[in-house]
Amino acid sequence: MVYGKTIADWVTAFPLIKPLMKGEAIAWFNPAIAPIAQALDDIPLTAADVSDASARLQRFAPYLMEVFPEVTKTNGVIESELIRVDAFSREVQKITGISHPVSLLLKKDSHLPIAGSVKARGGIYEVLFYAEKLALQEGLLKTTDDYRLLNQAACRALFSRHKIAVGSTGNLGMSIGIMAAKLGFEATVHMSSDARQWKKDKLRSHGVVVVEHAGDYGQAVEQGRKNAESDPLCHFVDDENSMTLFLGYAVAGERLKAQFVEAAIRVDAEHPLFVYLPCGVGGGPGGITFGLKLAFGDHVHCIFAEPTQSPCMLMGVYTGLHDKLAVQDFGITNHTAADGLAVGRPSGFVGTAMQRMIDGYYTLTDDEMFSLLYLMQKTEHLQLEPSALAGAAGFSRVLSEKQGYRERLGLSDTAWSNANHLIWATGGGMVPTAEYESYLANGRRVIPKR
Ligand SMILES: *Cc1c(COP(=O)(O)O)cnc(C)c1O
Repeated sequence: MVYGKTIADWVTAFPLIKPLMKGEAIAWFNPAIAPIAQALDDIPLTAADVSDASARLQRFAPYLMEVFPEVTKTNGVIESELIRVDAFSREVQKITGISHPVSLLLKKDSHLPIAGSVKARGGIYEVLFYAEKLALQEGLLKTTDDYRLLNQAACRALFSRHKIAVGSTGNLGMSIGIMAAKLGFEATVHMSSDARQWKKDKLRSHGVVVVEHAGDYGQAVEQGRKNAESDPLCHFVDDENSMTLFLGYAVAGERLKAQFVEAAIRVDAEHPLFVYLPCGVGGGPGGITFGLKLAFGDHVHCIFAEPTQSPCMLMGVYTGLHDKLAVQDFGITNHTAADGLAVGRPSGFVGTAMQRMIDGYYTLTDDEMFSLLYLMQKTEHLQLEPSALAGAAGFSRVLSEKQGYRERLGLSDTAWSNANHLIWATGGGMVPTAEYESYLANGRRVIPKR
């Protein structure tokens, strides 16, 4: 029995559970999608909250430039490039048999400064938010001050009396740990057994305490939360429910919009934009989707990608069980080489608040991620980690879907062929060479031969 029903009853009610349990790659396009004007009713956040986050990051820009010289060239703004990946697109089209031209873009969050992954958005923002709050409360800072003040003795002494802790599969720990340690906090990262060794080593080299847990991500989070609860001076970053983290991600929307304007790429009724986002617990892709919806309205269509062995968000929304569900309850392993996506239980907040804004979900096998990783290197010379390739399968999935998604969108033939498709490449820029070489070798081995 699973949540009061037999597996057979679940499969009868929700037929996709069967291929999901077999580990097959599937897609599901949510029939309950709604126009943004209605869907915004589901979420307790607004455009003003995103603007507030954006302004806060702006206040921190001088501080960030002082402590991380690598963000000087972007004036203290942590942002990634938007690039075209035509050669990659042509290779994938050859393999998948899509013959018409496709406009394919890639967002290089893999190469975001400081943390080398999408977590440099939400994770760093939450640490800055907390540091600002403490300094304001103590009267050491006004929002009109030059925030380089935070790097001086009085503020550093304040932060050194406080702790920041987080549970993570790796990348969130990296961004929280590095930022928190830089400000002078005592930082602790609780890591799951599937977290990569090099991430633990790197964190320790920054003075972060790494606690290793035998179980998966969910257990690491629970343990971390428990430890933090007993300590009033410890702030625990709650990846599953934090609205602060979510807002840090959401700022990406207006930033991407500015990049589109600069590149003279249109997004409107005749030029829809499809965005493919790798999903773990859901906060990253959920927050980015929220920001994109605010920036581009109904002309942007966001689709989440998950490993076949960790389809937690798809299953949570599809069945309506949301965070009551863990994929393991259905015999799905949650074992994947995509460590950033190895999450068995989805964020309940994202699943419920965002469900009418996310167009669809698909799953892909580790082998498909590895072969895309190899192709991305071969065609674009771009180093990504397996998780970051989850979105790279999206455009071929959407362009060849036969579940009535396109009809439901009501797009004209011109709009469909004018569409821009964007892969949100979420991590990989900091993967050590030896580790990356072994990913590449894997990809070379499993790539479909024609
Ligand atoms: C964390 C992560 C994601 C997904 O973000 P969630 O907030 O867990 O959904 C995607 N890709 C990479 C590389 C990540 O580290």
